Amino acid sequence: MSHVFPRHTKSDLPFAVKGQGAYLYDHKGKQYLDASGGAAVSCLGHGDADVIAAIKAQADALAYAHTSFFTSHPAEELADKLVAAAPGDLDRVYLVSGGSEAVEAALKLARQYFIEIDQPERHRFVARRQSYHGNTLGALATGGNAWRREPFAPLMVQTSHIAPCYEYRGLVSGETQYDYGQRVANELEEELLRLGPETVIGFVVEPVVGATLGAVPAVNGYFKRIREICDRYGVLLILDEVMCGMGRTGTLFAHAFDGITADIVTIAKGLGAGYQPIGAMMCTSRIYDAIADGSGFFQHGHTYVGHPMACAAANVVMDKLIKCDLVQRCSTMGTSLQDALVQTFGQHSNIGDIRGRGLFIGLELVADRETKQPFAPDLAIHKLIKRQAFENGLACYPMGGTLDGKIGDHILLAPPFILEPEHIDEIVEKLSQTLKQVLG
Ligand code: PMP
Repeated sequence: MSHVFPRHTKSDLPFAVKGQGAYLYDHKGKQYLDASGGAAVSCLGHGDADVIAAIKAQADALAYAHTSFFTSHPAEELADKLVAAAPGDLDRVYLVSGGSEAVEAALKLARQYFIEIDQPERHRFVARRQSYHGNTLGALATGGNAWRREPFAPLMVQTSHIAPCYEYRGLVSGETQYDYGQRVANELEEELLRLGPETVIGFVVEPVVGATLGAVPAVNGYFKRIREICDRYGVLLILDEVMCGMGRTGTLFAHAFDGITADIVTIAKGLGAGYQPIGAMMCTSRIYDAIADGSGFFQHGHTYVGHPMACAAANVVMDKLIKCDLVQRCSTMGTSLQDALVQTFGQHSNIGDIRGRGLFIGLELVADRETKQPFAPDLAIHKLIKRQAFENGLACYPMGGTLDGKIGDHILLAPPFILEPEHIDEIVEKLSQTLKQVLG
């Protein structure tokens, strides 16, 4: 009997024993193409000798020192690199061990900021109905999926949710993309006025929606309008790039594409590239200084923040993304993969939409292409596809939750940036085979 506590207690999973390049291997030697990079984690692929060497060297020199006594060279170096690469003036970095921790730190920092500047009445957040921000209690409260939140309600962090920018289902006939973006962004202003903007801390949003919708970027102009609304009402713009960041969408920071600046940004997943658990919360000096000049103490912390071995790994990841042009490669290979998917599945009767940026691509599954009618939720098509694809040696990331968090299915593809053309062929071929087996 396994004593590991799996998320699905009835699951019977194979043992992962080896990873090399774009492939994973189980205990029986079966090979799987890692077409989802875990969950948009493995940007460099598996078995990267440079990252492994850096981790070993750091373990030899120093594995751990508590950050209340010491800083460390790997942590300082990583913060410098992130600040140099980030758009706008995000120049302070708080290093954590994963995505939920980064979001949790962001929520607390934002709340503390308003307390320090004597606006304690700002106590709540606005987020979007289709979003995932993590599973710790604060992050869970900001996430949009009602079915995830409701079992734990009432949640301590007050959040209300507005519509996402979701062109496939939101744009109405006769409306331009731009007008749609402005209309849906204006929901933020309406919500702020409804709540009383002086009570709101921040708007929490993924620049490209990941797990809940399957790689949905906003239309042009949406985020500029969001930024204007936040500025107008003194609300912080908190961008969650845990999934879409670190080059995944073709720019190192996803929001660089939208030409906006953020007050707080969270990153994780690709930062450790699967080699170490690490995440970061970045903020502007305005926020940091308010705390430094006020109480002088961020009321937060974890034992493993700024872990030297995790930072050593992330430093190599950052170097590879930037100096080896892997972000550029992600963008180029992303276009090739998306083109290949459109060519093969563009007219498929059960694929309503193919979207995404870089190597962050979603395929939306529908029962009827014309009416965009989703599959009935009890069919759990995404689960059948996930299982069959895995059987066929393809690890992809199908999810339910396109509409209200329960209905609707999509497949998320987020392979490593080292992808080669033959991997693209393999993804398309195995996906075709899987769809035939599941949908007929
Ligand atoms: N934010 C986003 C946008 C995510 O996609 C995720 C994870 N899927 C998280 C936060 C939480 O990250 P973690 O699972 O590392 O806690």
